[in-house]
Amino acid sequence: MGKVTGFMEYERLEEGYKPVPERLKHYKEFVVGLDEGQSKVQAARCMDCGTPFCNSGCPVNNIIPDFNDLVYQGDWKNAIAVLHSTNNFPEFTGRICPAPCEAACTLNVNDDAVGIKSIEHAIIDRAWTEGWVQPQPARIKTGKKVAVVGSGPAGMAAAQQLARAGHDVTLFEKNDRIGGLLRYGIPDFKMEKSHIDRRVEQMKAEGVVFRTGVLVGALPKDSKVTNWAKETVSAEQLQKDFDAVLLTGGSEQSRDLPVPGRDLDGIHFAMEFLPQQNKVNAGDKLKGQLRADGKHVIVIGGGDTGSDCVGTSNRHGAVSVTQFEVMPQPPEQENKPLVWPYWPLKLRTSSSHEEGCTREFAISTKAFKGEKGKVTGLTTVHVEMKDGKLVEIPGTEKEYKADLVLLAMGFVNPVATVLDAFGVDKDARGNAKATTDFTGGYATNVSKVFAAGDMRRGQSLVVWAIREGRQAARSVDEFLMGFSDLPR
Ligand SMILES: Cc1cc2nc3c(=O)[nH]c(=O)nc-3n(C[C@H](O)[C@H](O)[C@H](O)COP(=O)(O)OP(=O)(O)OC[C@H]3O[C@@H](n4cnc5c(N)ncnc54)[C@H](O)[C@@H]3O)c2cc1C
Ligand code: SF4
Repeated sequence: MGKVTGFMEYERLEEGYKPVPERLKHYKEFVVGLDEGQSKVQAARCMDCGTPFCNSGCPVNNIIPDFNDLVYQGDWKNAIAVLHSTNNFPEFTGRICPAPCEAACTLNVNDDAVGIKSIEHAIIDRAWTEGWVQPQPARIKTGKKVAVVGSGPAGMAAAQQLARAGHDVTLFEKNDRIGGLLRYGIPDFKMEKSHIDRRVEQMKAEGVVFRTGVLVGALPKDSKVTNWAKETVSAEQLQKDFDAVLLTGGSEQSRDLPVPGRDLDGIHFAMEFLPQQNKVNAGDKLKGQLRADGKHVIVIGGGDTGSDCVGTSNRHGAVSVTQFEVMPQPPEQENKPLVWPYWPLKLRTSSSHEEGCTREFAISTKAFKGEKGKVTGLTTVHVEMKDGKLVEIPGTEKEYKADLVLLAMGFVNPVATVLDAFGVDKDARGNAKATTDFTGGYATNVSKVFAAGDMRRGQSLVVWAIREGRQAARSVDEFLMGFSDLPR
């Protein structure tokens, strides 16, 4: 433990944001991280608990008290070694993780949690600057070939672990760039894409072969999921050419809103809108980009994806941005003794909300209205919870003006045709069916085919995807070699 009395002496210090008018002019990151001295003070707040709840609250089980102590001691090189021992990509989680570890921190019971995420962010950024992040190629090759399908955080983490275990790994991705939703969901202003690119370079040096623009299996004809594939490879071919196949294709099927008027122009899934801006930021030319300039925008869905639509619409120059959430407004402060150390339900105001947005809660959309085939507005009604069901409140119907409606109500499951191509069984929610058992976990019903990440667990978080990718890599390694030295 760095400083015994640190938690009593120092207040929590949040990372800063650049001013709204400045950051709305661009798509770059705007978080101002902690400097060395501030990180040391924040790390000194850690109590090095005998039972560190932060560690079990973190899906990758980061060894948080240890890296806090190392930062306090000024030993940043060992701090990154500790961080990398449980997390392949702390620069992703240090930027965009909601930090369940902080909700679980013991200090959070009656004080402000240790700023674990900002310390993680500082450690990994320093490690890159100092040149401490280097390729770790395997010393002995096994001669076994593994195909990983889908290059989001689950696929990337699995591919890196498997390559380090000595296997020949090929990572297939239907889109034109690596990264999954990190690349084509999460806006650049939350995470710039150079962070993915330098990991790709590291992984290439470790022997991973990247094949972008290759669709494995098939998509339905009318599918709206991102797909810039120029080539298709069949499931049978992959099963023939590789000793094991790991499916990490995400949960891409967006939840729809089949109310009257849904077929009007100007109503789009968030995942039609957000990827286009990321492509433009990357220098691609797009014909007829979906844009919010000069429009009244309604975002339906109150989560992260909706918030990203708000931030992007404001950067486009929308006239107004309104976000709907069907659930009632949660309390501003959680009842800590009741919910700690679990993730609390409370009102979360993102940096995108702060940039300008009207938020409506307990509201449901009954119909879209339009003129000449184009959306012009929508009709809503307020709802309340009765006997566990949301019911309409009579007399609360309202009309909203809208030139662009973005549907951000989450994802129902993976695209079924990809799983069907391999004959993989699905669970009740339509995800790939596989357990997370210590032995044999992540294996599907099909011989030598495994599944992990959102494709197995359903729509989730980057940190869970990294965990599943790491654990699935160990399972695949065990399957191929009869044992595994990879951490779980
Ligand atoms: C807009 C948005 C914002 C988000 N913000 C956050 C956030 O702030 N913090 C957070 O923790 N989480 C966030 N999430 C959730 C997070 O991004 C996902 O949980 C995570 O990326 C899942 O990782 P994955 O590797 O399982 O799948 P994905 O990231 O979805 O990657 C799957 C990849 O597989 C590819 N693929 C699919 N099928 C095939 C096929 N047949 N052949 C070849 N390739 C295929 C896809 O093209 C995709 O690139 C957000 C999600 C969205 C949509
Ligand atoms: S729970 Fe909080 S105070 Fe305790 S070890 Fe973890 S970070 Fe430190």
